[in-house]
Amino acid sequence: MALITCPRCGRKISDKAQVCVHCGHPMQEKQTPPLKFFTEDMTKAIAMEFQKVDEALAEERRNERKRRRGRF
Ligand SMILES: [Zn+2]
Repeated sequence: MALITCPRCGRKISDKAQVCVHCGHPMQEKQTPPLKFFTEDMTKAIAMEFQKVDEALAEERRNERKRRRGRF
């Protein structure tokens, strides 16, 4: 459990709290939507891009080894 500062009253509250215990400012509303946006489709797309780069690098290394073997 971590402590965060309430943006409204500036006091420390638990990051698990849904509302500030001091002033009642809602804490979860702001945090959840961006996380939802970034899951599933975007995570998959990013993972696929990384895989493509990995494959390209592996292919490049294989070609480099072949070239060296051919030369010597
Ligand atoms: Zn507060």
